[in-house]
Amino acid sequence: MEGLVLGSADAARSPVCGPNSTACSGDPPSGAGMTTGICHHESMASASASASASGVTGSHGQARSLAVGTWVVDLDGVIWLAGDPIEGAGAAVGRLQRAGVRVLFATNNAEPTDAELRGRLAVAGVTAGADDLVTSAHAAASMLASGSSAMCVGGLGVDEALHSRGVRVLPARDDAGVPDAVVVGLTHDFTYDVLRVAATAVRRGARLIGTNDDPTHPTPQGLLPGSGALVAAVATAAEVVPELAGKPHRPMADLVRARAVDVTVVVGDRPATDGVLAQRLGVPYALVRSGVLRSGDPGGTDAEFDYADLAALVDAVVGP
Ligand SMILES: [Mg+2]
Repeated sequence: MEGLVLGSADAARSPVCGPNSTACSGDPPSGAGMTTGICHHESMASASASASASGVTGSHGQARSLAVGTWVVDLDGVIWLAGDPIEGAGAAVGRLQRAGVRVLFATNNAEPTDAELRGRLAVAGVTAGADDLVTSAHAAASMLASGSSAMCVGGLGVDEALHSRGVRVLPARDDAGVPDAVVVGLTHDFTYDVLRVAATAVRRGARLIGTNDDPTHPTPQGLLPGSGALVAAVATAAEVVPELAGKPHRPMADLVRARAVDVTVVVGDRPATDGVLAQRLGVPYALVRSGVLRSGDPGGTDAEFDYADLAALVDAVVGP
């Protein structure tokens, strides 16, 4: 009973929309790599893992009951780690799909474009349909009406999601005017001027929407500031409480429900996001200790299922 884990997760790079940048102009970068244009980057963690699979919570009988419906599966720390596919994860997704289980991927990483994420899934050996991916960028865009306007303080993933929603995207510049909303996600181009322009727009009446409020993201160098830190900076400067889009908040839950009416379980490495999302959806939470939590780390005690990694969980559900 217990899994092991190893390090952290997440990294990627994508553009941001700074005061003097054209980054929010919309065109996603070409290529399937993780590096994209100018708008923001998030570095990912690394860590290696070896995981001795041994399920923890949940009997095998209980686990087998999960072999139906739709699984909501996190990406960072579940499918890949530090940008590298986690051993066995892609094959595990394939076994689930062959057993008739649909897999809906849900990530708080708003930086990459959909094409970038699909490219990374393909590298990990995962096939995902057009409707099988939801991100906190999608969730943030879903909070805005088509035809509205938004100042983008985030990466290309945010920019793309807003455009797809029919939202007019404005750069974070003094001459941008007052948009309906300021949407903040992780960006490495976050400067005092971006903060000043974004906070001023909010003070003048724009909604403040954060893609997610994760305070940090883990990297080989340790924990680095996450999207939540940037959202908090704008909220503090504007003296407002931000609206939040990604896991575990309601917009992401609503997006998941819109994509799947038969969710069986939420699988992820972060109890505070994936576990709480499962609660919100009213389904069990399966913790996998291949990301932010390692075997023996405290936390995750409320998880109905607790496994070393996705491969171990799928072994218990549909067999090796
Ligand atoms: Mg994760």
